[in-house]
Amino acid sequence: MNFHVITLFPDICRAYTDASILGRAQKSEKGKGAKVKGKQISVSYYNPRDYTKDKHHKVDERPYGGGPGMVMQALPVLKATAKAIGRKDPKKVKVLLMSPRGKKFDQTYAKKLVGKYTDIVIISGRYEGIDSRVKKILKAEEVSTGDYVLTGGELPALTIIDAVARNVPGVLGTFESLEDERVSSGEMYTRPEILEYKKKKYKVPTVLLGGNHTEIEKWKQGK
Ligand code: SAH
Repeated sequence: MNFHVITLFPDICRAYTDASILGRAQKSEKGKGAKVKGKQISVSYYNPRDYTKDKHHKVDERPYGGGPGMVMQALPVLKATAKAIGRKDPKKVKVLLMSPRGKKFDQTYAKKLVGKYTDIVIISGRYEGIDSRVKKILKAEEVSTGDYVLTGGELPALTIIDAVARNVPGVLGTFESLEDERVSSGEMYTRPEILEYKKKKYKVPTVLLGGNHTEIEKWKQGK
């Protein structure tokens, strides 16, 4: 799965996608023999500021009809998106536009994206949002990560990349994949067995220490 993020702030996003599991999933690793594995995902960034002819790389303007704030101009966003899409098969590319009014993003939607597309372009807005002609021209789907308004689409973009990537085969290691199938168990414990905090003792549930897998499974289902 290739992710393409259109953002005025690629650095803050890159810091997240280069770390931990997402970072590892972008690297190639040596498999058995001469086999090269890894690279289950790629994440590329495109800054609309690099696609404007304005001397000061300005990409926002006042809204027509008045009102507060500034609006991101269409052309720099369209050009950055065109660069991201390149000559890829349009049927395999999904363009998502981050918006608090969009379709609600969830786990089902994340899985659907993995099944249908090879490339996901995520357009992240700032200020009051993006000139509405971008949505029309690109036939982009407006997507919201929740009922709140953020200052930008970067966190929603990262949320989507993260949730989609962990459904791409090979991104999670064996251990984490197991964990994925056990979302039903909300409780988890690790060492120490007895945690002392502010003069109180907190114990790990006894069943988890026993090694009786049938009992452990039963306990997890009940949680
Ligand atoms: N006045 C605008 C709000 C803009 S918020 C409006 O009513 O639509 C600035 C940018 O942050 C948006 O363009 C969008 O890309 C992003 N954003 C804010 N909240 C979001 C949310 N809940 N889900 C997805 N994107 C969001």
